[in-house]
Amino acid sequence: MQHVVLNGGSQVSIESAPDPTPDPGEVVLRMRCSALCGSEMKDYYRKGVANSNDGHEAVGVVETIGPDVTRVAVGDRVGISAVAGCGRRDCEPCNHGQSTWCSDFQIFTGAHAELFKTSETACLQVPEHIFDDIAVLLTGDGLGVPYHTGQKLGDTSNRTIAIFGAGPVGLSNIMVQHFYGARVIAIDISEYRLEQARLLGADTLIDARNADAVAKVHEWSSGGVDIAIECAGNPKTLKQCFDAVRPNGIVMINGEQSAVELSPSEDFIRRDITAIGSWYYQIGEYPSMLKLYQDGLPLEDLISHRMPFTDAAEGFALMAKGESAKVILEYPQS
Ligand SMILES: [Zn+2]
Ligand SMILES: [Zn+2]
Repeated sequence: MQHVVLNGGSQVSIESAPDPTPDPGEVVLRMRCSALCGSEMKDYYRKGVANSNDGHEAVGVVETIGPDVTRVAVGDRVGISAVAGCGRRDCEPCNHGQSTWCSDFQIFTGAHAELFKTSETACLQVPEHIFDDIAVLLTGDGLGVPYHTGQKLGDTSNRTIAIFGAGPVGLSNIMVQHFYGARVIAIDISEYRLEQARLLGADTLIDARNADAVAKVHEWSSGGVDIAIECAGNPKTLKQCFDAVRPNGIVMINGEQSAVELSPSEDFIRRDITAIGSWYYQIGEYPSMLKLYQDGLPLEDLISHRMPFTDAAEGFALMAKGESAKVILEYPQS
């Protein structure tokens, strides 16, 4: 099979690899399409990376199944959750569809490929009328991250939300929160992405290259927003989220990052601030995510580019320049 390989230093190539074979409980999918995720950009840039394929948002058709597979059959069209719970009957989180809370979960990567191996517990059946590219967003980070985030925030209609970072995760939060009826302010440093934010429903845009983002948020919201969502994965923007919310506000953290300096007194206690982490989504949420799409969430607006997987280098370059929302790679169908 052919697959996409990141070699670090912004180098991407298409290479041959042996066809994967499924172990017990695993399946191999013939890919229909996969989506690029912002989390892959670390390996894209990092020097010294060899042979990386972190693709984890995908839709395909089950081609072969390993021993003991009971949940999917050859020929099923499925979307995949990047996080596969153990699926054992005696695992409480898995029994409740809380795959990311399973203590034995596995993450399968390598989905930018003609064939992709994953666990049967990661496979989600896609209704026939849903197109492949929509299904990738429905079962991946595209809708998964903002949906799970929205579940943690509760009813946000008429609330003010500042979204720091309008990459794919920020844009998807803008789309979902606008759909829920929140008033959204988007902050980024890319003109392209701010325009995407506007198209997805942001009420106000701030270009942080030429404005004090926190001061502008305070001005717009008369003293601070109800909620700030960190989607840039940057210590500076996380700190700005704490400064942008009103007393008793909520800081929601989506952007992965390591240690950040925060003051318990100044950032939390004396202003009654609540900070919440939210990771990915859980397979038990999939039926409600499907319903949200069927209720009219304009998921297709999140896709900025579709291209053959052999053009992956161009897709990653667009992501690097901040000139894309979701980029979809397509695979030939025989
Ligand atoms: Zn991801
Ligand atoms: Zn489990």
